[in-house]
Amino acid sequence: MNSTHPCWCGQTDLTDFSPEYFCCENCQTLVLKNWPPAERFDVIDDASDFYGRSYYESHVTENYGLPSLAKRARNDLNERCMHWMRTVLKYCLPPARTLELGCGHGGFVALMCWAGFDAAGLELSPWLVEYAKSAFGVPMLTGTIEKQNLEPDSLDLVLHFDVLEHLPDPRTTMQRCMELLKPDGFMIVQTPCFPLGRTYEEMVRNKDRFLEQFKPAEHLYIFSRQSLVRLFSELGAPFLYFEPAIFNDYDMFTIVSAHELSPHTEQEGTEVLLRHPEGRIVQALLDANAQHKELVRRYEEIDADREARLQALRQAGARIEEIEADREARLQKLLKMDALYKAMEERLASKSAADGSGAAR
Ligand SMILES: [Zn+2]
Repeated sequence: MNSTHPCWCGQTDLTDFSPEYFCCENCQTLVLKNWPPAERFDVIDDASDFYGRSYYESHVTENYGLPSLAKRARNDLNERCMHWMRTVLKYCLPPARTLELGCGHGGFVALMCWAGFDAAGLELSPWLVEYAKSAFGVPMLTGTIEKQNLEPDSLDLVLHFDVLEHLPDPRTTMQRCMELLKPDGFMIVQTPCFPLGRTYEEMVRNKDRFLEQFKPAEHLYIFSRQSLVRLFSELGAPFLYFEPAIFNDYDMFTIVSAHELSPHTEQEGTEVLLRHPEGRIVQALLDANAQHKELVRRYEEIDADREARLQALRQAGARIEEIEADREARLQKLLKMDALYKAMEERLASKSAADGSGAAR
């Protein structure tokens, strides 16, 4: 274990941030304190290596409470995959050659193929590669991107969903990906976003969801927007477009390009998808996902309205109780005055009776 691993930017003088992370003040990246051994970063033996079979079958389910791979291979398609697809189509229309690093079960690679892309996936674990091939019948590469025999300038789009934070040498790996891109190619990067200006103590106090990204077994560098811009600017890709992330509480979702990009309209994407049968299925999934999101939005709106009405009713109830108590107090006062009045009357009556009998004598 080397507890003073330098930042990706080269800085070795790092500031304490949390029990598990340093902060690099030079580039604003969080750097893991206890750096794992180098063999952690590849899979040679699926049975024993960190990112081997057990990572998916037990590590992420037991330690992070994530669903099983089989569940993910079913549920992700109409959830995060639709969010990703919508953003891919905004910047890149089929046909185009794409590669997804760390594609997991391969469901998104399949959707990309059905959308009309010439898509492939890459995973470290041979077991997972076989899983993706058998579950979705997608083209897969095995091992790190550095080990692949791919032509430079051959890809239109490289996708990294939850990959960057796991890389021991993000500059070299991203440099390699940049070399694989065609001159007008670009990348999409989803990674946790270190929110600047918040201390660790504040995060703990506020139960900040970003803390879920402190995974010292595997999240080596946690980038901020600033450090992401710096990394890719240094690699010759200074155009970064920050799109909404599906998990916006802690992630950033960024289009990274060497040149300026002009987005396509949703209609343009739809027209391309409707040209072939599998594309129609993808469009139907996108439509269903949009309808689902709209229903959730309406449900939340109605729920908020219901809550507001309930609050108003509670306030009205409290006001009625107040008025009732006030009425009761006034009644008690009146009854008391009435009793006093009667007592006075009785006293006056008995006094005048006494005076009358005296006068008669
Ligand atoms: Zn740094």
